[in-house]
Amino acid sequence: MLLNKKQLKLFKTLSELNGISGQENEVARFLKEKYLSLGYELKTDRLGSIFAFKKSKVENAPVVAVAAHMDEVGFIVTLINDNGLVNIAPIGGVNPQTLYAKRVLVGTKGGKFLEGVIDSTPPHLLDKDAKTSDIDISKMLVDFGFTSKEEVLKAGINSGSMVVVKGDFTILNDGKRLLGKAFDDRYGLVLGIEILEYFKDKDLPFNLYVGGTVQEEVGLRGATTSANLLNPDLVIVLDCSPARDSNSANVGEGQLGRGLLLRYHDRSMLSFPELIAYQEEMAKKAKVKTQYFSSPGGTDAGAFHKSGEGVLTLTHCICARNLHTCSTILDVEDYLAAKKTLITLLNDFDQTRLNKLKGVRR
Ligand SMILES: [Zn+2]
Repeated sequence: MLLNKKQLKLFKTLSELNGISGQENEVARFLKEKYLSLGYELKTDRLGSIFAFKKSKVENAPVVAVAAHMDEVGFIVTLINDNGLVNIAPIGGVNPQTLYAKRVLVGTKGGKFLEGVIDSTPPHLLDKDAKTSDIDISKMLVDFGFTSKEEVLKAGINSGSMVVVKGDFTILNDGKRLLGKAFDDRYGLVLGIEILEYFKDKDLPFNLYVGGTVQEEVGLRGATTSANLLNPDLVIVLDCSPARDSNSANVGEGQLGRGLLLRYHDRSMLSFPELIAYQEEMAKKAKVKTQYFSSPGGTDAGAFHKSGEGVLTLTHCICARNLHTCSTILDVEDYLAAKKTLITLLNDFDQTRLNKLKGVRR
């Protein structure tokens, strides 16, 4: 096994916690306890983003923020029908083709999660003309076994209740790969906790924040408020990007097992070449593999780098297959490459390095 029991448990727990955008409380609660148990102070914004904080002994020390998003894509209940079946609407980007007959969980007012399934038409009854391109999430029904609207309401489910597709954590190929839901971006939260464990008793020449933002999947909203809260000099965004190595029509940058992503371009940010070079240098020092990557998507970096007068922002991502489904697969060596590089970078970073990086744009 490449990861020990404690690390695997962290992946299992965090990936199996449920938290769509705007309803990340379960994840935030777990992080809060973890950060406090490691002896860090807490800092929170008013949307629910949460950070562990370590103050430097150096006066006027720069501020470094390491952020991952807590939310996952999912659904909300939109209509409760008289027959007890429920309509849903997506929160974040979901491919409708991945949904029929999937087991789902709905959050109740009492904080419980009840299991159900997205209704599907059996092949026997399928219309010959049914086209997959016509799949419309708003027409899907979710069946929790209720027989009436009254039963649904009595169980504490209402319009707006969170629905997530269930995805049990599974270790594949003797621990070389992991399967589970929401590695986007629980990957980043696991890595954040490991970073906090590593630097727990070490003095740093900068004030360090490591934490989780809310509502990334619906438009980088928690990153916006977190940037206002922390006023950082350097932000490192941990996120999980779509692999392009498992579909013959889509082979390209982002291959599992080929290392940390040097994400040089995406829709939300024109990456800072000086930071990509710094990241590559640190990866070399850590003796791990890297691969260049561009993405049609975005990350929290898109909001962080535009905050204040502009902030040096770096994405520190790995790729995973089947992103935004209940069955994401990541490569553990990639995870370890990201971890080793981040530790190396944080051990290197100080005011002198910051001045050098800032100097590029002056
Ligand atoms: Zn993400």
